[in-house]
Amino acid sequence: MSKSPVRAQAEGAGRVVARGDSAVGEQDSDGSGKKVKSVKKDSAKTAGAKTGESHTALVRRARRINRELAEVYPYAHPELDFENPFQLVVATVLSAQTTDLRVNQTTPALFAKYPTPEDLAAADPAEVEEILRPCGFFRAKTRSVIGLSKALVEDFGGEVPGKLEDLVKLPGVGRKTAFVVLGNAFGRPGITVDTHFQRLVRRWKWTEETEPEKIEAAVGELFPKKDWTDLSHHVIWHGRRICHARKPACGACPIAPLCPSYGEGETDPDKARKLLKYEKGGFPGQRLNPPQSYLDAGGIPAPPLGAG
Ligand code: SF4
Repeated sequence: MSKSPVRAQAEGAGRVVARGDSAVGEQDSDGSGKKVKSVKKDSAKTAGAKTGESHTALVRRARRINRELAEVYPYAHPELDFENPFQLVVATVLSAQTTDLRVNQTTPALFAKYPTPEDLAAADPAEVEEILRPCGFFRAKTRSVIGLSKALVEDFGGEVPGKLEDLVKLPGVGRKTAFVVLGNAFGRPGITVDTHFQRLVRRWKWTEETEPEKIEAAVGELFPKKDWTDLSHHVIWHGRRICHARKPACGACPIAPLCPSYGEGETDPDKARKLLKYEKGGFPGQRLNPPQSYLDAGGIPAPPLGAG
């Protein structure tokens, strides 16, 4: 468990400062004396979705949220276990409609039996289906991972390509999967617009767009490209641990003073803390083999399949 489940700054946090037609103002973020820097209202250019913020104010608030989240989750990382680009692209395809935890509990057996694209391309589908059964939609996922392995062998010399336009040609690989692979296996910046990312950027009024590609473009404008991959991790981690879909833990949220949707969830600090998941709530994470930085911060590895 993390020694500091939620930063002290979050304790008792809970005053929304950007709501309705007002912009973020000078606020005491919590009582710890730390100030949330003022972002002044500029009514000349109202770019913030429903906050009345100018584009400049929106950029400042968005970047401040990202900086705050970087302090809360300094160990943020992709939550799929992988050792090479092939494993990451397969794991990401398998993660549709299930949790990263379930994928991580399933892939050790898959990659032990089929360590390369050549091995998986030549696999007996029935045997792969049996391994992938815990992931759900196992027949379709078997077709996808065998199909993408064949495409890697036939079109890319058995290597995962490092370009967006090539990745999206692989069976089962869309832009979201491609950006996960580019950002985390090739170090190329990408914004991963998954369900958490979509929900949180709407709560933060960063954009009113609803289509992933448009969200990607709108949010991309708020941040330097070099920050895109880490930003994606921070947002997704916050969505999984604190800003949940149905019960956001607003009363335990470190960025409450910057959030126009504060109050959408539980605001009582004690009740909110009980909603926290994974290391913030003192529970195991999703990776069986998380990075050392996560373990050093008190994070607990996930158990293998059948162990818990
Ligand atoms: S939990 Fe979500 S909705 Fe609530 S204050 Fe935090 S970011 Fe905003």
